[in-house]
Amino acid sequence: MPRIDTDVKLDFKDVLLRPKRSTLKSRADVCVERTITFRNSKYTWTGVPIIASNMDTVGTFEMAVALAKHKIFTTIHKHYPVEAWKQFAAAQPETLYFVAVSAGTSAADFDRLAEIVQAVPELRFICLDVANGYSELFVECVRKVRATFPHHTIMAGNVVTGEMVEELLLSGADLIKVGIGPGSVCTTRKKTGVGYPQVSAVLECGDAAKGLGGHIISDGGCTCPGDVAKAFGAGADFVMLGGMLAGHDQSGGEVIERDGRKYKLFYGMSSATAMQKHAGGVAEYRASEGKTVQIPYRGDVTATVLDVLGGVRSACTYIGAGKLKELPKRTTFIRVTQQLNEIFTGNERND
Ligand code: 5GP
Repeated sequence: MPRIDTDVKLDFKDVLLRPKRSTLKSRADVCVERTITFRNSKYTWTGVPIIASNMDTVGTFEMAVALAKHKIFTTIHKHYPVEAWKQFAAAQPETLYFVAVSAGTSAADFDRLAEIVQAVPELRFICLDVANGYSELFVECVRKVRATFPHHTIMAGNVVTGEMVEELLLSGADLIKVGIGPGSVCTTRKKTGVGYPQVSAVLECGDAAKGLGGHIISDGGCTCPGDVAKAFGAGADFVMLGGMLAGHDQSGGEVIERDGRKYKLFYGMSSATAMQKHAGGVAEYRASEGKTVQIPYRGDVTATVLDVLGGVRSACTYIGAGKLKELPKRTTFIRVTQQLNEIFTGNERND
């Protein structure tokens, strides 16, 4: 008989961080950098553990250059040719510390990955990304990449439950990407009925990873700086952002003008738009599980970055965490029925 798990599972909108007494004087005192040594690669990295998603209009070289100035990481999308990587590496050697190369499970992806890793020896991170990290094929892919690149740090996902986090870590991954269905342009929950509320997924997967000395990335679902703080509070070592970083100068794609307003195109990586662009159409056996949206053009990404970092710093001061690393230790979530006072929603100005 089908089973029903009646434990309540929570999303960002269901919780708030409870304030705690603190000796911190100002949010400028908070350190948002972390130094992390990865389980399998044994590599030690220091930076701000926020990651731009490997989506076409987010994980661009331009984004990486802008974010690296703030020590923020970018997973570069998988559609740049090797030549472009070589040029980027020559022009931006210092940015390479903050980027990963992405790949899926296909043989062509593996060959491309091997070529790039060979062409850019300074590259230390590989992001293996599939919509469904539960397949045996994916586990085999992680094993093969680990065997081929023993010293690279491997990000792998996406999954949402502890047992699969453990399996991927034991197969050679270092950093497990957590999130199925929470993304801003994701339609998986609608198309398939599959998913897991993100705060609970992070709490459970973080716990499983910690038991094995691994780390996790909360991927998807953040709509504002407060959600990023909640993801860290729930135990995410890194937080990956798509929609929050889309629509900027560094996001690639054209600016579209409509009724005197400027917009940019943003789309899911399994949307019809992405499949049209990269695979020549939507394959018959699969539904597209992503959508395409026009979002208001937001200029340079720097203002958004400062907004996110300011929010996370402030969250740390409210709960008395002097370092980002202490945030989960000091986190108590309260379950809520309302997040925001919406009385003036829709009346915002941009200044
Ligand atoms: P966001 O920060 O925009 O809420 O979520 C970004 C994440 O959504 C990405 O990092 C990726 O994991 C996920 N994502 C991107 N494109 C798609 C898609 O087309 N379908 C699904 N199901 N998820 C997507």
